Amino acid sequence: MKAIRVTAHGGPEVLKPEEMPAPELGPGQVLVRVRAAGVNPVDTYIRAGAYSISNLPYTPGFDAGGEIEKVGPEVTAFKKGDRVYTSGSISGTYAEFALCNVSTVHKLPPKISFAEGAGLGVPYATAYRALFHRGRAVAAETLLVHGASGGVGTAAIQFARAAGLTVIGTSGSEKGRKLVLENGAHHALDHHSPGFNDELMRLAQNRGVDLILEMLANVNLGKDLALLARFGRVVVIGSRGKVEINPRDTMSRDASIHGMTLFNATESELKSIHAGIYAGLDNGSLRPIVGKEMPLSDAARAHVEILEPGASGKIILVP
Ligand code: NAP
Repeated sequence: MKAIRVTAHGGPEVLKPEEMPAPELGPGQVLVRVRAAGVNPVDTYIRAGAYSISNLPYTPGFDAGGEIEKVGPEVTAFKKGDRVYTSGSISGTYAEFALCNVSTVHKLPPKISFAEGAGLGVPYATAYRALFHRGRAVAAETLLVHGASGGVGTAAIQFARAAGLTVIGTSGSEKGRKLVLENGAHHALDHHSPGFNDELMRLAQNRGVDLILEMLANVNLGKDLALLARFGRVVVIGSRGKVEINPRDTMSRDASIHGMTLFNATESELKSIHAGIYAGLDNGSLRPIVGKEMPLSDAARAHVEILEPGASGKIILVP
């Protein structure tokens, strides 16, 4: 099979297309024929060696949309040909076939394409956990999705809109803000605008927002705290460095800052996350946004583009 292999940590150039045998199945495992693989920022951090979770050599990728090719012993939930999305893989999804534990494979409704399915695993699970498990969002609250034009942000808008929140989303580009509104946000703002704080407070009736989902905390966290209403929460989803905050901004509001990583989700949280995703796909309130499809052999280019400004949905690799 074709697969992208990493034999040494480093820049995007270490992602090399290779031919290799398809993985062997064990008990409780399935082999997924990957029709589309989702590219996530975390794939680039692992490739660069920032996390020690992949032994070398390895094939990157957690997310895919595809079909069940084979089922291993003890697997009863799936059969050959079933349409699925993955939220993790033993062998990596940047390949024609991906070996997965059955617990990381989920049914994909017929109306959702494989490319859309490849945008579900990490982004939708992260958005759900940040919004509901960590952020405790409830209907009638006001939400700021700070960085709403990418994989996690578009998912968060869709979940929040369906759950009855007032949603304000941000993007640094005109195209991104259009996407934010098309996905159901009530308002779209430019996170680079010098008047951002004033515009946000005006939209939040000068009361502040109840919840902020933060994609770039090292830039925004200090300012976020002053934008919160009383009892407001910030959930830190993404951060690429340090930031200075004024703790007094939390005191005066009884505000709280919640960190989160999807890898800490418990089994029961994962069960509710994927049930929530399936329900939203089925009732039409969720629809992953495919921004760009590239051939699998362009994985290195995808790793450059995923970290550049101007996000517009998901980057997908097609084997
Ligand atoms: P993505 O698709 O590349 O999107 C990045 C988003 O960040 C875009 O909406 C981008 O907006 C926005 N952004 C850029 N500059 C910003 C600024 N100054 N202020 C606010 N937002 C800004 O990435 P993603 O998959 O959505 O992931 C977003 C972040 O969450 C990444 O850092 C990722 O590593 C992290 N993440 C964390 C977890 C976890 O478990 N904690 C899970 C998944 C992702 P424009 O390009 O329109 O400016």
